[in-house]
Amino acid sequence: MEKCLMCGSKSELQNSHAIPDTFFKRIYRSNAGKAIVVPGGGDEPIHYSSDSWATNQLCSSCESLLNVSYEQYSIKVLRGKGCRIIKHDGGVTFNGITGKTLVSFFISVFWRAANSKHPNYFKVMIPEPWNSQIRSKLISKQKIPANLATVKVSRLIDRTEWFSLTSLKSLIIKPFFRRVAHRRYSFCFIFEGFLIEIFTPGLALRERFQGGVLGNQTKILSVPFIDIFDIPEMEEAMVEGYGKYVDGDVTFEN
Ligand SMILES: [Zn+2]
Repeated sequence: MEKCLMCGSKSELQNSHAIPDTFFKRIYRSNAGKAIVVPGGGDEPIHYSSDSWATNQLCSSCESLLNVSYEQYSIKVLRGKGCRIIKHDGGVTFNGITGKTLVSFFISVFWRAANSKHPNYFKVMIPEPWNSQIRSKLISKQKIPANLATVKVSRLIDRTEWFSLTSLKSLIIKPFFRRVAHRRYSFCFIFEGFLIEIFTPGLALRERFQGGVLGNQTKILSVPFIDIFDIPEMEEAMVEGYGKYVDGDVTFEN
């Protein structure tokens, strides 16, 4: 019996996912059982994988708490259900959302990734005391204050049209971090066609007015487009990976 990372009880641990399994499954279905994995600026090539980056981490009740309280709703919203979506030139507006649940979902992905032993989450970490503070908020279903961690959501596009929207939704990349200021970092996740950037500690109040910043009170979220080639870490990984892809005689297609 091992200790659950969330509640600390000794239990049979579940094979826990940080990025939800359903996003991997969607890719596997559309891509003959394989996800395209793009490394986050590392030295590994783009490769196909059927691993969904899970490790033994949580007991079954913590696992179901995260799934039922945060994940189920958020997956629906990210797939455009249970809210009204309006597309416009600069992005997509999600109307009628429950900000608190979405914030808790993204932070729960972040927290699980930071506390995962899976090598693909190697670059994600949350220093103390924030790690413990986030854990206790998640388990008690309390809202996560924006000064503890702030979530910013962008929608991926590709103006060169090299990638279709469907293939953008089929990209999961190893999370990477950015240094945003002295001793301050953000952690970036790409899944289901979104770039999710999480700042911990959170953004200052004046910085939270930018597009895509999700708050606990948010009911209408305007998600800006971001061109995939304007994400420097992504471009690096793809240029490098693409070269190896061609060498390996595999075509990069959706
Ligand atoms: Zn537990």
